[in-house]
Amino acid sequence: MAKIINVIKGTKDILPQDIGQWHNLEQKALEIFTRYGYQEIRTPIFEATELFARGVGDTTDIVNKEMYTFEKSDRSLTLRPENTAGVVRSYIENGMSRLSPPVKLWYKGPMFRYERPQAGRQRQFHQVGVELFGVKQPAADAEVILLAVNYLNALGLNDLEVEINSLGCPECREEYKKKIKEVLKPEFDNLCEDCQNRYEKNPLRLLDCKVESCKAIFAKPEIQKVIQSDFICEECAQHFDELKKYLDKMNVKYVVNKLLVRGLDYYNRTVFEIKSNNLGSQNAVCGGGRYDSLVRNLGGDDTPAVGWAMGMERLNALLPKCEQQRLDAYIVSNSSIDAMQLAEELRTQGFDVEFDLSNKKFTKQLEKASKVAKYAVILGEDEIEKGQVSVKNLDTSVQETIDRKDLRSKLENVKNS
Ligand SMILES: [Zn+2]
Ligand SMILES: [Zn+2]
Repeated sequence: MAKIINVIKGTKDILPQDIGQWHNLEQKALEIFTRYGYQEIRTPIFEATELFARGVGDTTDIVNKEMYTFEKSDRSLTLRPENTAGVVRSYIENGMSRLSPPVKLWYKGPMFRYERPQAGRQRQFHQVGVELFGVKQPAADAEVILLAVNYLNALGLNDLEVEINSLGCPECREEYKKKIKEVLKPEFDNLCEDCQNRYEKNPLRLLDCKVESCKAIFAKPEIQKVIQSDFICEECAQHFDELKKYLDKMNVKYVVNKLLVRGLDYYNRTVFEIKSNNLGSQNAVCGGGRYDSLVRNLGGDDTPAVGWAMGMERLNALLPKCEQQRLDAYIVSNSSIDAMQLAEELRTQGFDVEFDLSNKKFTKQLEKASKVAKYAVILGEDEIEKGQVSVKNLDTSVQETIDRKDLRSKLENVKNS
C-alpha cells in the first residue's frame, strides 16, 4: 500500500459534518452586511511580500516571524496573513477612490500565519471582515462597531463586551510614546525581550504584552498615571467623544480600555475589540480600528478608513453545532431507472432528493432513507403500474399510498414545516 499523506500541521479539513456552521457564518455575513450597504470583495490569497511589509508594518510579529513567503520568478510572494492590506491594494488599483464615499467592502476567506500551533489557533485560519473607506467622521467608526455587534447577535452571541480606545493621531501619539518611553526607562532591563525590542520603534505595543512580569510593571502607579492620562489632542478627543455618543444612542454597551492598542501598526484614533461571554469564559471575537494613513502609505490618495476582522474558527467554537441537513426525500425502488426519473422530476421542483445508485436490497435502501431523509418515497412495481407512490414519514413511521401527482404538495408540506 502506498504511504498515507497527512494534512499539514496547523491546517485542518473542514468536513461535511461541520460545514453547516461555516455556511451559517457566511450566509449571516452576506445577509447582515448587505443590509448595511457592504459589498463582498475577493482578493488573491497571495500578494507581493512588500504589500504586507508596508501595509501591516515591519515592526509587527506578523511580518517579522509569521509570514509564509516564497520566491517565484524572482519575485517575493507571501500568503496573506490578513486581508486589510489586500483590500486596500485593490481599492487603490481599481480606482475606487473615484467612487462617491463611503466605499463599503466585506470579505471572508483563509489567512496564513506561521504561529506555534495551539488549541484554537491554526496556521491556515479564516477571517470575515469589513472595511469602510472615505469617511473621517466618527459615524463611520460607530457604524462598523454597530455592524459587528449586530452580526454577532445574529449568530446568537449576545453577551458581548465592547472595548474601545483612542490611539490619537500621529502628532499627539508621538508625545504619548515619548512619555511612555520615559516612564518605562528605569524598568527597561526588567522588561521581556519582545518589549525591549519594541521599546524604540513601537513603545505603545508594550502595553498589550501578555507576560506577567511586564504586566506587573505596567500596573505600577507612576506608570499607570501616564497610561491613564489623556494624551490625545483636542481634535482626537472630540472624535472619540462623538463616537461614544453614537454608541450610547445606539445602546451599544462599551468600556474604555486604555491598554487596548491592537497588534498592528497602522491604526490611529479608534481601536476596538469585542469580547463574548457566551460559554462562560471571555473570548475576544472581533478586533478593528481606524487606519487613516494606510491607503496613502500604499500609494493611494489620502483616504480615511476603518474596519474590523473576526476569526471564524473562534466564532464556530462559541456557537452550537448545526444539525446536518436532511434530504426531503429518498426514493426506495428496485428500478433505479424509474427512481432516477422521479428523483429528477422532484429536483426540478426544488426538492433535495437521492435514490440508490447501486441496486441495493429494498431493506438496505429503507435503512439508508431513514438515516438521510425526512421522507422515504417508495416506488414498487405495484406503485409504478398504478401511477402511485407510497410515502413514509421517517420521523413518525406513518406510511400512505398516494397518487403520484399529489406527491409534490405532500413534500411541500414537510419542506415548510
Ligand atoms: Zn491627535
Ligand atoms: Zn513584555
